[in-house]
Amino acid sequence: MTSSMIKENLEKVRNNIIQAAKDAGRDPETVTLIAVSKTKPVELLQEAYDAGVRDFGENKVQEITEKYPLLPKDIRWHMIGHLQTNKVKYIVDKVTMIHSVDSYKLAQEISRQAVKHDTCVDILIEVNVAGEESKFGVSTDDAPDLVEQISILPGIRIRGLMTVAPPVSDPCENRAVFCALSQLLVDIEAKNIDNVNMDCLSMGMSGDYTVAIAEGATLVRVGTSIFGEREYRVDR
Ligand SMILES: *Cc1c(COP(=O)(O)O)cnc(C)c1O
Repeated sequence: MTSSMIKENLEKVRNNIIQAAKDAGRDPETVTLIAVSKTKPVELLQEAYDAGVRDFGENKVQEITEKYPLLPKDIRWHMIGHLQTNKVKYIVDKVTMIHSVDSYKLAQEISRQAVKHDTCVDILIEVNVAGEESKFGVSTDDAPDLVEQISILPGIRIRGLMTVAPPVSDPCENRAVFCALSQLLVDIEAKNIDNVNMDCLSMGMSGDYTVAIAEGATLVRVGTSIFGEREYRVDR
């Protein structure tokens, strides 16, 4: 993929975001585009950076630690993939937000490492709204209790919820999933849990981010539509 294509792709995605927000009667400024750069070389990330991208999403600890030192320091790194407890220490001082917290044990370790590094980490609770067996994430029913448990941990700030919707041929099929996550955020807010002030909804990918925005997404995670298809090497 050539540089001009990334720039063009970004322009399209940004325009779609603005249009989707306007259609929903929302201020486009309330939607942040996270460029999902997993498996992509730093040269392409730099091109996206040069075209104005500051929020990048990665799903592997090793990719974050490899790319982090090679790119500008004002990048906001988002950890969007499943995170193993024993790897938290490598990224806790590098990421802006961890989107994939789905257990108390993981939150505890993030808290422990954050305190150790004298920092505070923004996190989202990953919810498996559609109840897919193959997916990470806490169930919709268990989410409020998990938020309450995590809310008392030091060095950690719960900012909202995240979901990975199922792959579908028609993005509208995921409207109910996004609507359910939106509603769950409202329900948890209504509990007025101490220290919990959630306003982030991380939902929507290349196939369905406009639908997610219609349902209230504030963070959309778009990879393929910006960087093109991913090629997974066999030795990865
Ligand atoms: C890969 C990935 C994305 C981006 O998917 P695209 O379909 O390429 O836009 C978004 N969210 C998560 C959690 C991912 O792992």
